[in-house]
Formats: sequence, C-alpha cells, structure tokens
Amino acid sequence: MGFFSKITAGLKKTRDSITNAVNSMLSAFTRIDEELFEELEEILIMSDIGVVTAKKICDELRARVKEEKVTDPSVIKGMLAETVRKMVDGDRELKMTTHPSVIFVIGVNGVGKTTTIGKIASQLKASGKKVILGAADTFRAAAIDQLAVWSDRAGVDMVKSAEGADPASVVFDTVAAAKARNSDVIIIDTAGRLHNKKNLMNELAKMYRILKRELPESDIETLLVLDATTGQNAVNQARDFKEVAEITGIVLTKLDGTARGGVVLAIMDELNIPVKFIGVGEQIDDLQPFDPDAFAKGIFSEEA
Ligand code: GDP
Ligand code: MG
Repeated sequence: MGFFSKITAGLKKTRDSITNAVNSMLSAFTRIDEELFEELEEILIMSDIGVVTAKKICDELRARVKEEKVTDPSVIKGMLAETVRKMVDGDRELKMTTHPSVIFVIGVNGVGKTTTIGKIASQLKASGKKVILGAADTFRAAAIDQLAVWSDRAGVDMVKSAEGADPASVVFDTVAAAKARNSDVIIIDTAGRLHNKKNLMNELAKMYRILKRELPESDIETLLVLDATTGQNAVNQARDFKEVAEITGIVLTKLDGTARGGVVLAIMDELNIPVKFIGVGEQIDDLQPFDPDAFAKGIFSEEA
C-alpha cells in the first residue's frame, strides 16, 4: 500500500463517519442558514473535534459564507476541508540535529508507546541512523521483554535492567552506552501507570533531568503517545502531561480502529501541540508522519 492510501485507509472509519453525517445533513438543506451551522457544529462535536474547536470552525465558515455571499449548501464541504487543512498546518519534523539526539516517549499504559518506539526505531534505522533503545519501563518484566522483541524486529540495540530497577538509572546507562557505541538516536521507553499520577510525573521529571545533565547539548524530543480510540480522554491526558513535561509532539495511535480521528484537531487547536505521527496499525510499518494534506483529504474525500 502506498503512503497516501495507507493514511486514508487508517482514517477510513473517521472519514465514513464525518463525511456521511455531513453529506446527509447538507442534502437536507436548500440554502445555508443558521440551522445548518448548528447541525454542523453538532456533527463536529460528535466526531471528537471538541466543543471549542467545533465552534471555532463553524464561526470561520459563517464569516466566509457571509463574505463570499454563497448560499448553496454544497460549498460548505470544500470550505470545511480548507479550514481543517489550515488548522493542522505547521512544522512537524523531529528535531534531531545533535549527535546523539534523544526521543523521550511518555504516555499512560496501553496507548502504544512501546509499539511506536519499535516503529520509529525501524524508520530511523532505515534512514541510516544508529539507534539505541532504553527500557526505562521497569514496572513489569513483560514490558522489558516487549521492547526487546521490538528491538530485534527493528534491528537496533537496547539497554535494559532488571524489573523494578530505578528507571532513571536505566536512562543513565542508556546514555552511557550511546556514547560508548557512538549512537545517533537514543529512544527511551517509560512506564505509564495512572493510579499513581504524582509518582509517575516525578519519575518522568527525574529521567528528564538525567538526560539534560548527561546530554546538555542534545536535542530532546518529548513525544506524548495518545490512543485515538479514547477520544476526549486523550485530550485530557495531553492536558495533564503538558503540565509536567515539555511535550514537543504527539503520536496519535490506533487511528485505524476508530471513527474518532477528529481528536487530532482538538489536540492541535486547543492544546497547541503538533501531532507528529499517527499510528494506523500494529505492524512495524504502520506509523506515518502526520501529513496535513493527507489528513484533510483523508477525512473528507469521498473515494478511497
Ligand atoms: P504501551 O503500554 O503504551 O507501551 O502500549 P503498547 O505499545 O504495549 O501497545 C498496546 C496495544 O496497542 C498493543 O496491542 C499494540 O499492538 C496496540 N497498538 C499500538 N499502536 C497501534 C496502532 O496504531 N493501531 C492499532 N490497531 N493498535 C496499536
Ligand atoms: Mg510499553
């Protein structure tokens, strides 16, 4: 499957849900009026775009309709796609100019951190980078084993410690190994237990301090992984993590299994954090850099 078709396939459920709802709503109107905008706003909110962002989109469309003096409801869809396209614009390259650079991966349990790390490692390796993984989710032995499976699959090194070891010490060891082995990119996997939020946040802060101390000159990307199937919950998680970490980007996983892809808009617009990657499946190549055009088309195009 090609790059674009993979994204559109990953967004199929979201597209089906939004496009169908918008189409059938528009077909019920003969001209654009306030009732149309109210129904549109409702559809957008139902699509996990978020109340604030849905309202903002509709306000922009109202203004455009007035300014351009259009009356035909069928023009709304094109305008909607353009507005969304603008909202998700921006730079989303990983900043990795230093040697080594670091990708620090955080997020609650089960969102797809370890899987995403495997996928990113594989892509970086394919682009010629020497990658090393740090298994700093020491909470369960199974978590360490799972990262080991991905390091084998991706064909990259990994540093680990015993279950229950201090995660910060794993970070320290990984940095030391990266220096000794001349690695280009360090990727740190972390635990995400929620029942113990304060401890979790303290632990993340400690790991981050070690990275800063040992690699003061290095670029550090802090990627927050969110599960798209959780909808507005994902937005709330982003809000929580934003308070304690300098998040540089979001990875939104499991878009293949959900109609809630609209959550991309809520995250970018309400929280102002760029979505840098989207996960569209469980396989090693099921991670795509977030592409604004493909996203806008993937949500609104009829075909595919
Ligand atoms: P972690 O606890 O955050 O490290 O999450 P894991 O990486 O262990 O992933 C939890 C589950 O989500 C696993 O079964 C993964 O295969 C699955 N998963 C991760 N990313 C995706 C994705 O993009 N699409 C789908 N369908 N499943 C995913
Ligand atoms: Mg994990």
